[in-house]
Amino acid sequence: MPYSFKGGVHPPENKKRSAFKPSEILAAPERLYFPMQMHVGAPCAPTVKKGDNVCVGQVIGFSDAPISALIHSSVSGTVADIKEWDHPSGRKVMTVIIENDNKFTVAPEVLEREAKAKEKDPLDRTPEEVIEAIRLAGIVGMGGAGFPTAFKIRSVLGQIHTLIINAAECEPYITADNRLLVERMDDALLGIRILMKTLGVSHATLAIESNKEEAIEMLRERLDGTGIMLRILRTKYPQGSEKHIIRAVTGREVPPGKLPGDIGCAVFNPASCAAIYDAVAKGLPLISRFVTISGSAIGNPQNLRVRIGTPISCLISAAGGYSLPPQRIIIGGPMMGTAQYTTEVLVLKTCNSVLVFGENEGLHAGSAICIRCGKCVSVCPMRLQPLYIRLYGEKGEYEYCEKKLNVRDCIECGACSYKCPGHLPLVQSIRFVKQRLGPVKKS
Ligand code: SF4
Ligand code: SF4
Repeated sequence: MPYSFKGGVHPPENKKRSAFKPSEILAAPERLYFPMQMHVGAPCAPTVKKGDNVCVGQVIGFSDAPISALIHSSVSGTVADIKEWDHPSGRKVMTVIIENDNKFTVAPEVLEREAKAKEKDPLDRTPEEVIEAIRLAGIVGMGGAGFPTAFKIRSVLGQIHTLIINAAECEPYITADNRLLVERMDDALLGIRILMKTLGVSHATLAIESNKEEAIEMLRERLDGTGIMLRILRTKYPQGSEKHIIRAVTGREVPPGKLPGDIGCAVFNPASCAAIYDAVAKGLPLISRFVTISGSAIGNPQNLRVRIGTPISCLISAAGGYSLPPQRIIIGGPMMGTAQYTTEVLVLKTCNSVLVFGENEGLHAGSAICIRCGKCVSVCPMRLQPLYIRLYGEKGEYEYCEKKLNVRDCIECGACSYKCPGHLPLVQSIRFVKQRLGPVKKS
């Protein structure tokens, strides 16, 4: 019986539009844009200047802060400019703009690492060697979190007994991890085994929703003798939230204000595992990823393999352009993604999906009146009372929201907003309250 949890919602999946089509490689555009913030932590500073020539895989952004991630060029060419540019977060961020020369000349240091990587079995590396390869590759959590992977692994070394691969991909429309698993399964599995060895655990659990039949069938045939176990989850949103995956696999809860590592767990995304394989076994930096391009206003929904730094306008054109007048563009899923106001924003390391909706799909045009129906409470997977958080938040009673309504436990899944018949912007109100409260104060 697939694992489930109390609360949650069943939005239309809309995954079949892209799930079964093999991915296509998107041609590199003439100009690519590399914001110096693609990760959680300190932004990078450019290591190049206008007019410099750059190679594929060359570091173009660096920070010596402990929590940060290197940024590499995904093409060869010339630095056309360095200036503030639109970022998917809605802010302007310092961005290195590279004019592609279409030669794809690989950086000498990447070729050197590639040759060296071949000399040793990736499963014979020491934890330090693996962490260094991941750091040099600039890998971050590719499921959307963007946390630098080298720092994450180092901070939990010696503390982990449960390694979980989160392949739930529970947001509607998105099939990027599913396609990656189907098309790069051996690489992802070897990446998981590298992680197991590095973290010193004898097994890992790959948790996946029951609607990914093709990947599940393939996994059943390939997992024997790998130490990787399969856990099938019921298809339900937000099954893929880190807290719910951990509860599904271990039966334990991450206490409020604590991290998975505090209860001996580490959770990684399948795309990050494939990137770990690329870094450790081949010496390659993270310069491309699978991205789902879908939604009612997209002519030919599919998955594309995209170079980091590509404007989303290129993905839309490659997927047949608009089939309806576009009303809403989202990076990420319809439940937790970020609305975009320009198609000149870029594919970052964390971008798993670009969705474009026409009228009446993915839209909430509500009456903005709470009728006290309680639906938001019944679907909340964290057992919160979103209507009251909104109410007290509007009155400015943030401490009450924190102490009595446990607003900090909200995982911002958006299930309450989705289910609310008035389509009240509950998750936005909750985010606002959390912002006003600021970070948790250490006692
Ligand atoms: S209150 Fe937070 S955790 Fe609960 S349903 Fe709403 S967004 Fe999700
Ligand atoms: S679901 Fe919407 S209308 Fe119903 S109680 Fe919650 S906020 Fe009010």
